[in-house]
Amino acid sequence: MREADELVATVFSGLAPLVIEDVIDEGARILVLARTPHQMVACPGCGALSERVHGYHVRTVADVPVDGRRVVVRVRVRRLVCLTRGCRQTFREQLPGVLERYQRRTARLTRQIGVVVRELAGRAGVRVLSALAVLVSRHTALRVLLGLPLPRRPVPRVLRVDDFALKRRCRYATVLIDAETRQCIDVLPGRRVEMLESWLREHPGVEVVTRDGSAAYA
Ligand SMILES: [Zn+2]
Repeated sequence: MREADELVATVFSGLAPLVIEDVIDEGARILVLARTPHQMVACPGCGALSERVHGYHVRTVADVPVDGRRVVVRVRVRRLVCLTRGCRQTFREQLPGVLERYQRRTARLTRQIGVVVRELAGRAGVRVLSALAVLVSRHTALRVLLGLPLPRRPVPRVLRVDDFALKRRCRYATVLIDAETRQCIDVLPGRRVEMLESWLREHPGVEVVTRDGSAAYA
């Protein structure tokens, strides 16, 4: 059994901060059951350490593929009680670098998707990822692209995208506007999503894209 544990620890080394309790072969995908270690965690309110459990919840996230198959990790995470008098709050333990808040993928899977979508636009990136047993929608690919932390020059935080029909011959233009300063940033010919994607790829740092005033991608 010790050898099996070592094998699991080697294959899932990126999940080392977690305690892996079981690995289940489900055919098309591999299910990893894990929990956080029994250790003290600092309260985000007052900094005092606590391991008093208030309750548990389960997070299910996708991880990098193994054996050409998808990997899903089901992690039991604790909600702890702060024991400081007057603080008394409960808080959920965080796993930065492994599970980021509100994410449905492990940090290392998101990094891998980021590498692919930065190089390959739109459907090409999604197809390559699918061949690598990483299933993402184009919408997700675009969201990952938007989340790449590479601000090199001033790029608007909130980008407004307006489509304009140019009157002659029904041609279209896409105008990119900084939604906060209302400055025009760029004008692209046409109104295809691919064009916007490649512009975003060349100008990382945009956090929110709104289209014609409504939030198309948040
Ligand atoms: Zn506290």
